Amino acid sequence: MNTKPEVIREGFNIAAYNTMGISATSRFFAEVDTLEELKEVLAFARDQHLPMYFLGGGSNVLFVDDYDGLLIRMNIKGKEIQNENDDHLLLKAGAGENWHELVMYCVEKGWGGIENLSLIPGSTGAAPIQNIGAYGVELDQVFVSLEAIEVSTGERRTFSKEECRFGYRDSIFKNELKGEYVICSVVLRLQKHPEITPSYKALTNALAEKGISKPTIRDISNTVIEIRESKLPDPSKIGNTGSFFKNPVISKDQFHTLQKEYPEIPHYPAGDEIKIPAAWLIDQCGWKGKRFGDAGVHKMQALVIVNYGNATGPEIWDLANKIQHSVQQKFGIALTPEVNIIG
Ligand SMILES: Cc1cc2nc3c(=O)[nH]c(=O)nc-3n(C[C@H](O)[C@H](O)[C@H](O)COP(=O)(O)OP(=O)(O)OC[C@H]3O[C@@H](n4cnc5c(N)ncnc54)[C@H](O)[C@@H]3O)c2cc1C
Repeated sequence: MNTKPEVIREGFNIAAYNTMGISATSRFFAEVDTLEELKEVLAFARDQHLPMYFLGGGSNVLFVDDYDGLLIRMNIKGKEIQNENDDHLLLKAGAGENWHELVMYCVEKGWGGIENLSLIPGSTGAAPIQNIGAYGVELDQVFVSLEAIEVSTGERRTFSKEECRFGYRDSIFKNELKGEYVICSVVLRLQKHPEITPSYKALTNALAEKGISKPTIRDISNTVIEIRESKLPDPSKIGNTGSFFKNPVISKDQFHTLQKEYPEIPHYPAGDEIKIPAAWLIDQCGWKGKRFGDAGVHKMQALVIVNYGNATGPEIWDLANKIQHSVQQKFGIALTPEVNIIG
């Protein structure tokens, strides 16, 4: 029988550990800084048959109830070049590295590949979970592999890019292997002489406005940061989890039917299907800027649900359900949360 490791705390309020600022209690909570600590904590939880959930920065989770198990916050740090040649290098980063700080580190060194992903909140270990993406780049474009520990056995396993089965805001860790592995480190392939061809319209427009025709990775990063700061609420000032829903992908037939009724409907190709901005659908249903107590829809961004102060998890979730329902009624489209719902 494993005794309770010192890092485990009981009856822990996690309001400061989720960017929505939801006040909820976790029966057990541990912040782990090393692999050894993680293994000890996993062994204890297995012994006690405790449910476990992993947290990085808590920027993509919504707690709708207290958590009757062990929450493990991954804080394992470290950055190391694994391999390099004249053109590329393989950078291994610990799961607990703050993602934006990692991007800044790479920009500082002149290593290209993740500059478009500047200012995405959260940890490096969570980045593969939903294959983070922004401004025309997704993690899988630079991803090489990750190391994880199987929760049920404590065994280490390396996952290749193919094994992660990345998709749009998706990976095997949100599906078949949900909750079965904890990611400890990630390896990225970065360019030493970055070739930059920004194709994302908002980004190219913003660069053009600044008179930048041959952007460096620092130009890209700075511009992405400026756009994001002008558009998205800062979670340190107002609770939110960024985009609450994924952009739905619908069949061409369904799209053409909708387009007859709504000729202005924005859309983008997505393989053989069509992607519709969820923000537009939600806005059309009249949700932008609506507030119910402390739960609301951001006044500038219909896709962002916010906590103005003391909203509870169930209040936020209830609002999300109402939004889903109205979009379903008006457009016949089911919105899926991008955020991980716990409880
Ligand atoms: C203002 C704002 C803007 C955002 N913009 C974007 C954006 O542009 N693009 C984008 O893709 N996302 C965006 N997000 C969402 C979020 O930043 C990302 O999903 C990020 O990767 C979450 O990291 P995290 O460490 O906070 O994860 P958490 O919220 O802590 O966890 C998210 C999920 O990952 C799991 N997880 C976390 N760490 C591990 C680990 N080490 N091993 C196994 N599982 C783990 C958790 O169990 C949970 O299921 C935004 C969020 C906010 C608040």
